[in-house]
Amino acid sequence: MSKTLCDWSKHDIERHPEKLAELVLEPHFYCRKCARAANTSKVLCKPRKLPKKEESTGPVIENDGAE
Ligand SMILES: [Zn+2]
Repeated sequence: MSKTLCDWSKHDIERHPEKLAELVLEPHFYCRKCARAANTSKVLCKPRKLPKKEESTGPVIENDGAE
């Protein structure tokens, strides 16, 4: 199996969904070449930290135009 997620073949992906889930769950890094995401930089060929998602301060109240 390839060292980096970027180099996983279709075969690898099919064969190791548990490993994939382990790597991509709660990702902190992305590959700036392949756009893959992982929770460790070790499995990406051009790893970069994922920007933090902006936390919303509360539930978004959508105006559905009911009034
Ligand atoms: Zn990559």
